Amino acid sequence: MQVSPWQPFLPYNAVCCRYSEIGTKGRNRGDFVRHLTEGLERRLASTFGRPRFDLELGRVYLYPEAEGRELTREQWDALHREIPALPGIASVSPGWRCAPSLEALEEYVFRTFPQVYGAYVAAVPEGQRTYAMRVNRCDKKFPLRSAEMERRFAEKILSAHPDLKLDLKNPGLRIGVDVRESGIFVDYERIAGPGGLPAGSGGSTLALLSGGFDSPVACYEMMRRGAYVDFVTFHSSPYTPEAGLTKICDIARVLNQFQKRGRVVAVNLLPLQKAIRDNCEEKFRTIHYRRNMMRLACVVATRFHDEALVTGDNLGQVASQTLGNMRVIEDACPMMILRPLLVYDKLDIMAVARKIGTFDLSEIPVPDSCTVFSPVNPTTKANLGAVRADEAKLDLPVLLRQCLEQTTIMSTLNYAAHPFSELLEEPLPL
Ligand code: ATP
Ligand code: MG
Repeated sequence: MQVSPWQPFLPYNAVCCRYSEIGTKGRNRGDFVRHLTEGLERRLASTFGRPRFDLELGRVYLYPEAEGRELTREQWDALHREIPALPGIASVSPGWRCAPSLEALEEYVFRTFPQVYGAYVAAVPEGQRTYAMRVNRCDKKFPLRSAEMERRFAEKILSAHPDLKLDLKNPGLRIGVDVRESGIFVDYERIAGPGGLPAGSGGSTLALLSGGFDSPVACYEMMRRGAYVDFVTFHSSPYTPEAGLTKICDIARVLNQFQKRGRVVAVNLLPLQKAIRDNCEEKFRTIHYRRNMMRLACVVATRFHDEALVTGDNLGQVASQTLGNMRVIEDACPMMILRPLLVYDKLDIMAVARKIGTFDLSEIPVPDSCTVFSPVNPTTKANLGAVRADEAKLDLPVLLRQCLEQTTIMSTLNYAAHPFSELLEEPLPL
């Protein structure tokens, strides 16, 4: 996050939102931009209400709801808070949109520069202060060329402030100017977004969401690449507490701020777990749990028309996440399994969890379904043949149906759970 901490709050009448990758998508650009503006609307709704948008090539301009209004301090703060995690955004700048004329540009710059300079000088010691105006002249008919405009302002500003040195590459105090036929946009500040693609623009998935740190981050990483994410969680009621499900709903609610609302499905795995405890080898228990989580998740995904499953698996993190065991687990699953965190470092996962606001929720200790009857010595290198033979002792069609009968679809707003009996109409992936 490269928010310049010294930036003062100024008069702003617009926000320029830049996107990178989605600008290159040719024919689909309209759809991508729509998902982007929807994302902005969702994340900024509490302070901006329903902002107005203006779409230009490579840019989206956002304005406060009421015409002619300037941004409030709360709206400016909201940009700093929300933009760094908003999928699809390269950067945004609060700034000033004015008529496409040099006079209008000079009026804003010379009105606001003293305040910007004052804040910059207070933050950066003499000898290290650098300046540049960078002009992007999209309107090739504009009477002054980019370099002429930059020079014109540099002459005035540098002669009045000899402590500023010109640095075109990496200026500390940067005035950005975008000249378009429809108007000029000026800014002093860039708030970096996470890049990627706007959530919802790239297909739909079903994530296996547990209460840990990893799976919520895996969901976010999928959204950051444009995917829409539904959620399925497994519990072992009454062996696991109700609090586990409210925690999942709370996490899903945070994640849903990045996308159009994903659905939350809760499956009771206990009928299977009991049968596994009573009939199968102890060292394979976790593997059996996982294989059947995948099967049940496939049923939910089929019902939702989701195209792939997503997990928070991280190579080598725990016994079930060795290459060998992941292979044995996915053997039971006819769908594609995506593991966006496979090679992440735990510290990086934690950093993302903090950025997206799931860290504090994941930290709350609640017993997980996987720990019910969990083996003392889980195998790290299960043999597929042995696991299959062990699993053959189970009446899976009956057990999977019992789990589906105890499946609910949950509201993230009030935690209400409704039976999801439609799942029983779907074929079992056996
Ligand atoms: P997490 O932080 O996501 O809980 P973890 O390090 O605890 O991950 P595991 O418990 O081995 O890892 O689980 C690996 C993945 O399997 C999880 O990231 C999640 O996608 C899925 N998973 C595990 N337990 C559950 C559960 N009870 N409900 C839904 N998915 C689960
Ligand atoms: Mg877990």
